[in-house]
Amino acid sequence: MRNWTTEELIATDKRFVWHPFTNMREWCAPGHEPLVLVAGHGAILRDSRGREYIDGNSSIWTNIHGHNHPHINAAIRAQLERVAHTSFLGFTNPGAIQLAAAIVDLLPAESLTRVFYSDDGSTGIEVAVRIAAQYWQLRGIERHAFVVFDQAYHGDTAGAAALGAATMFRSPLDDWKFPVRRVRDAETLNATSARDAERVAAVVIEPLVQAAAGIRLWPSGTLRAVREWCHRHGALLIADEVMTGFGRTGRMFAIEHENVVPDVIVLGKGLTGGYLPLAMTVVTDEIFSRFDGSVAEGRAFPYGHSYTGNALGCAAAKASLEVFANDNVLENLQPKIKQMRRELAQLDQLKAVAEVRQCGFVAGVELRETEIVDVAAKVCLAARGRGLLTRPIRNIIVLMPPLCITPEQLSDAIVAIRDAIVEVCGQ
Ligand code: PMP
Repeated sequence: MRNWTTEELIATDKRFVWHPFTNMREWCAPGHEPLVLVAGHGAILRDSRGREYIDGNSSIWTNIHGHNHPHINAAIRAQLERVAHTSFLGFTNPGAIQLAAAIVDLLPAESLTRVFYSDDGSTGIEVAVRIAAQYWQLRGIERHAFVVFDQAYHGDTAGAAALGAATMFRSPLDDWKFPVRRVRDAETLNATSARDAERVAAVVIEPLVQAAAGIRLWPSGTLRAVREWCHRHGALLIADEVMTGFGRTGRMFAIEHENVVPDVIVLGKGLTGGYLPLAMTVVTDEIFSRFDGSVAEGRAFPYGHSYTGNALGCAAAKASLEVFANDNVLENLQPKIKQMRRELAQLDQLKAVAEVRQCGFVAGVELRETEIVDVAAKVCLAARGRGLLTRPIRNIIVLMPPLCITPEQLSDAIVAIRDAIVEVCGQ
């Protein structure tokens, strides 16, 4: 028996809840009916009124194998029967140990070998940046600057936001920032003076594609060129694979496309298959070897949260990796990547569409400048009416479904986007 009605839930939400990145005046306006999501299976989500939708942005880029996946559900249940959470501070647990070993095994051989757990993409990035800063301090070398790219997004906790470009993250915290140098691309990085280069602690990059910037693809070879620059100048390379990790780009990790081994990789979002908040920052032996003492001596890494190494999250993540192996997920994804490219090409013919961009199973449909206010948001709303959920980034419609989406559902999603664009913008 249900203990709610949609009307009650919405009224209570509007009375008590504060939503992220949301104009709460519009949200709470009497005419606005928020979607209440109550269930999911595979790539499908169901709302409180019983309507079903394709999860076109993988529940904010997290879901990999679908909702309610029997193998991941069973792993979480089995863990729950034992214990939900225990402290990682001074203790350890089987799930976190086995997951760390499994992830290291997936990463390039004998490179990234030490796993530090945290809670989400933002904290995973903060861990990376703090490790890099302390690493140079421990070596007694004056390298304080972090190089980041224009339009980068690495999360919204204060330290991670310091790296990001979006003006919405400029906040009163301006004086609590990592010293950051912003560059446009690999070419401008290469033009850095030798004097500046030797002060760089690390370069942080979203490999292959800057997602929050609007599915902005790096020219091929960028990641490799950045790796080479870091080698030449002795700086660390931090790969932010929070979005790109776990198959989104068609390979398990985006770094594989350009055969690049970073010094630090950050994983989040899809790590648990999109089930639970968990992130990890994986570093090389060389970095880890410098942290060889106590907190008091400044030689341990003084970081860690209440839920670090959470057993349920680790169980979900381990189960998600098993699904990758058992179901040949990456192999089965390849034809769907091609299908996405083929079917999205039709959108290019619409007058309202400026460009379609795709990297693996991640796509962005950029709409032309128009008189229509919030055009992409209106298109997403129209797509919702046609059974597809997604969220725009400025004037870009994002399509990033769970890897498990069926070919039929993928076609339906693309048709929904096309019809929604025509409905809002005309032919
Ligand atoms: N890095 C990248 C590349 C991201 O896309 C995001 C989130 N969109 C983050 C970091 C931050 O992750 P989270 O929202 O889990 O903190």
